[in-house]
Amino acid sequence: MTPLTTVEKAKILSFLETRLEAKVYDTWCRSLELEALDENQVRVPAVNPFYRDWLEKLLRKPLEDAFLQLFGRAPEIVFQVGLNAPAFAERPAQPAPRPVREAVAVEPMATKDFPFHASYTFENFIEGPSNRMAHAAAVAVSENPATLYNPLFIHGGVGLGKTHLLQAICHAILVRNPVAKVLYLSCEDFVNGYIYALQKRELESFRSRHRNADVLVVDDIHFLADKEGSQEEFFHTFNALHLAGRQMILSSDQPAQDIRALKQQLLSRFRSGFEAKIMTPTYETRLAILRRKADARWKDIPQDVLGYIAQVVETNIRELEGALTKVVGYAAISKRPTDLELAKEVLRDTEPPATSPVSVSEIQQVVARYFNRKVSDLQSRRWTKSTSQVRQICIYLCRKLTSASLEELGSHFGGKDHTTILYSVRKIEKLLGQDGGVRADVERLTRELGRR
Ligand code: ADP
Ligand code: MG
Repeated sequence: MTPLTTVEKAKILSFLETRLEAKVYDTWCRSLELEALDENQVRVPAVNPFYRDWLEKLLRKPLEDAFLQLFGRAPEIVFQVGLNAPAFAERPAQPAPRPVREAVAVEPMATKDFPFHASYTFENFIEGPSNRMAHAAAVAVSENPATLYNPLFIHGGVGLGKTHLLQAICHAILVRNPVAKVLYLSCEDFVNGYIYALQKRELESFRSRHRNADVLVVDDIHFLADKEGSQEEFFHTFNALHLAGRQMILSSDQPAQDIRALKQQLLSRFRSGFEAKIMTPTYETRLAILRRKADARWKDIPQDVLGYIAQVVETNIRELEGALTKVVGYAAISKRPTDLELAKEVLRDTEPPATSPVSVSEIQQVVARYFNRKVSDLQSRRWTKSTSQVRQICIYLCRKLTSASLEELGSHFGGKDHTTILYSVRKIEKLLGQDGGVRADVERLTRELGRR
């Protein structure tokens, strides 16, 4: 087996680069291996069946065209699972010490919709005090699924690395055991799939799809909030998998007990394994993440530029990465060096403008949309019981975020007098200390209103 010469490979890669979207090329081709088996066959190794099918789907045609146009040959391109596969960065595939479950046939799943981001691996995850527990638990689960932490429940704010960790577990499990049935899906997919299956009367196949997994990973499980039927269905899925000794891994943007209207039985299942919180990263962790990202693509970015970005973008790693890309992009467009002066200029421009004060009617719209109600329900003279808490939350937010007086607020909420308004505010203030669900709603709404 001879690798293609470096020159041949470089030619093929630049051909692919012109043919594919930049994002696809970056994700799938930067570490692509090609081996000439003989004159008529070229092998593309892949680390597991998922990658193999995905690579084939993306690259078969472009590779065939490349050989034909560049070298006037039409070798057969063979996509194969093999140890030379490059997909998981530096660490070569290792044989599993103990497979998750004996599997007789290689059975790729979800090939139509390969769900993993190639760079969401443990190698690319920077550990720090904010995520140490979650990271350690994730590594432990990937090394010994269904033994220690089951379910593993990772929670934390938006953009802090939950999806990255979940997918890193999937990658690592598949590297150890390429035939493990690892099913990763967003909770939204689960809910939509369930609704679809109900309509089409395909519940059996919906169920067996999830219940056959060795490892079931459901991202953003807080999406189950308020969805009674889906919760019930997930409860049964959970129990079936648990009984069968399979691993479950869940993520949420809030602790399980704060997910709104989550059935008690499901809550206790979620809490029966290991819960790990990811917090906002420290300055040092933010800087290390930026350094890692910069080194992968733009090695010459000075440390003070990264330090500045890490200082101004504090709470969300996705935004942190976005800020770096913006700075680099701006430097390229304006043909200037990526220095501190430029970074300051760019990030000053992209800082949110001083927010204008929010109005009562904007709050009503946001709250109504959030709880799936009509704005008119909040404004109507008749206060129905079913909207009473939604209305109280809305009044509370108006009181805290606008300068409207109690009387003015009364007029916005069906002409109620100021004592009714005050009662609503007090009621929510009390609930904030007692009811995690209400607290989470108020926090999310406040965040959303602050972001307009
Ligand atoms: P979440 O699912 O919590 O909203 P993501 O997992 O999508 O967040 O992370 C957002 C971005 O930040 C991704 O590009 C991810 O790779 C990156 N990221 C988050 N945490 C880390 C980390 N500790 N090290 C490196 N990159 C990280
Ligand atoms: Mg996510």
